[in-house]
Amino acid sequence: MKTVKDLQVAGKRVLVRCDFNVPLKDGAIRDDNRIVQALPTIKELISKGAKVILMSHLGKVDHKDPVKLAEGLKKNTLAPVAVRLGELLGKEVVFSEETRGEKLSALVNNMKDGDVLLVQNTRFEKGETKNDPELSRAWADLADAFVMDAFGSAHRAHASTYGVPELLKAEGKEVAVGYLVEKEVVNLSKVVDCKERPYLAILGGFKVSDKIKVINSLLKKCDKIIIGGAMAYTFIKALGGNVGTSPVEMDQLDYAREMYASGKILLPVDTVCANDFDNPTEVKVVESKDIPEGFEGLDIGPKTREMYMAEITKAKTIFWNGPMGVFEKDAYQAGTVAVCKACAELKGKAFTVIGGGDSAAACKQFGYNEEFSHVSTGGGASLEMIENDGHLPGIDVIG
Ligand code: ADP
Ligand code: MG
Repeated sequence: MKTVKDLQVAGKRVLVRCDFNVPLKDGAIRDDNRIVQALPTIKELISKGAKVILMSHLGKVDHKDPVKLAEGLKKNTLAPVAVRLGELLGKEVVFSEETRGEKLSALVNNMKDGDVLLVQNTRFEKGETKNDPELSRAWADLADAFVMDAFGSAHRAHASTYGVPELLKAEGKEVAVGYLVEKEVVNLSKVVDCKERPYLAILGGFKVSDKIKVINSLLKKCDKIIIGGAMAYTFIKALGGNVGTSPVEMDQLDYAREMYASGKILLPVDTVCANDFDNPTEVKVVESKDIPEGFEGLDIGPKTREMYMAEITKAKTIFWNGPMGVFEKDAYQAGTVAVCKACAELKGKAFTVIGGGDSAAACKQFGYNEEFSHVSTGGGASLEMIENDGHLPGIDVIG
């Protein structure tokens, strides 16, 4: 696959699909990691003398309901990203309020070699998420070459991630992946096709139903899967345990039994539970299969932590998705911290990958993100890459 390094683009207009879907609060960027991660590709193109046109989506925009649309357009502007990017690059980043039309064309025509232009949120266009051919045509007309560097959006075949490169490629124009996508693919490939065994998957988070496809896929690839988070209670219930008021997906019980029959799944033996999610008067550790009436499981217990840490220590490859408990609250962090710590101790001895938005946030919150071999910037995209045996539409279209 061609990368940005291989491109000969001096004087050419290069459209770069970035992932600037940053968390905003009251119009301020709370975490600029995604902008920082995009810098190597942008800097490379500037140094090559390209005219760098950047596109990204930000948040969700509802085009059906006019009130929600107005809110979405106000809330999800990329203008603050242009400012922050300018600071990080130490050069002006021109911002186009228009997502297509004469004003945008004029801005592009005015660009000099090495200039950077950021286009307003791609999702302000109704046709973006529908991969609308007319929209793809309009955007493709702005560019002589295309670089895909939005790993977090590579699982979506939208106009800016799929339609545009498809058109440009068919016209014989250069298309490539950026450094961020290259790094993600190189690292995630090692958990798609695992060579260093034992291969352990750690799965947690909220719902079994969100993760069915990835569990199926991991069962084929892994030697063992350890389960935590709320999804553990669906398994425990399926095996006949009492789970109190813990969240259970009743429509997933058969599936959970079937998965458990693989013999590869380990479940928590004890659980930290509480008599209320928000204002508990009692928090205690019980056996996972005996959670009392009126109590809800919120983290894996101390015996499970020991058991899971021992499993982690034995692994040579680890893929982790989903926190072990409600890590956002101090009382239910210990399980997730234990997994972070055990993985961190494998540094230099095993290949450890985190895929999943909340798991990556947890690992950063607890200060362990530098200790992992790879922390993916794409939650959904990293899961889909495993589910689809290494394939994602936004990357396959380049190759
Ligand atoms: P990721 O984003 O890493 O894929 P998910 O989105 O699947 O992870 O799950 C993360 C959420 O799951 C967190 O907000 C966490 O609080 C929640 N969670 C984990 N364990 C429990 C539990 N026992 N009860 C309720 N929520 C839980
Ligand atoms: Mg999540």
